[in-house]
Amino acid sequence: MGRHTEAVCRLCRRENDKLYLKGDRCFSDKCGIVRHAYPPGEHGQGRHKFSEYGQQLREKQKARRIYGVMERQFRRYFKEADRRKGVTGEILMQLLESRLDNTVFRMGLGRSRAESRQLINHGHFQVNGRKVDIASYLTKVGDVITVRENSKSKPVFKLIAEDRGQQGIVDWLEVDHEKLEGRVLRIPQRDEIDVPVTEHLIVELYSR
Ligand code: SF4
Repeated sequence: MGRHTEAVCRLCRRENDKLYLKGDRCFSDKCGIVRHAYPPGEHGQGRHKFSEYGQQLREKQKARRIYGVMERQFRRYFKEADRRKGVTGEILMQLLESRLDNTVFRMGLGRSRAESRQLINHGHFQVNGRKVDIASYLTKVGDVITVRENSKSKPVFKLIAEDRGQQGIVDWLEVDHEKLEGRVLRIPQRDEIDVPVTEHLIVELYSR
């Protein structure tokens, strides 16, 4: 899957919102949006007024960037959310949250979604005892996610274990940082998903 090559902090500045793409740095005063609170580029400090369509588009881009999902896959999540019974926008957010890379990040077993994605791609995780190296794997209630035995001694996991609980763990997951393992307790409600996305604008965009 292709990835963004521009500096990730520019993505936050473009959205004028913290997207938390860089782990610990996002919580420090080195955060790019704290240092430069205006969009990047020559006209970044000018006034910006978006059309209705423009706002919908920006909201979709923001969600894609937060979760690191390419357009085609994002549209697939929307189609699946639309197919299911319930509030489409909320289901869309729940699908994004249930991605394995996000779940690993939420468990604190990766310091950002990008790092979690990389660790998963490198084969360091298993789900219910089986190796899973697909970051888009959708976790289910009851799934047990573990760092593989051979990977536990790697410096990155030692650091993660030392940092444990730094950002707080969400209520819908259970984590044992000593064992480097966690379990999905339930599907999160929308008010438990702390991402700055107005999902009904995304639904409106795709319903045009
Ligand atoms: Fe965004 Fe994190 Fe960079 Fe701040 S440090 S601008 S939150 S990616």
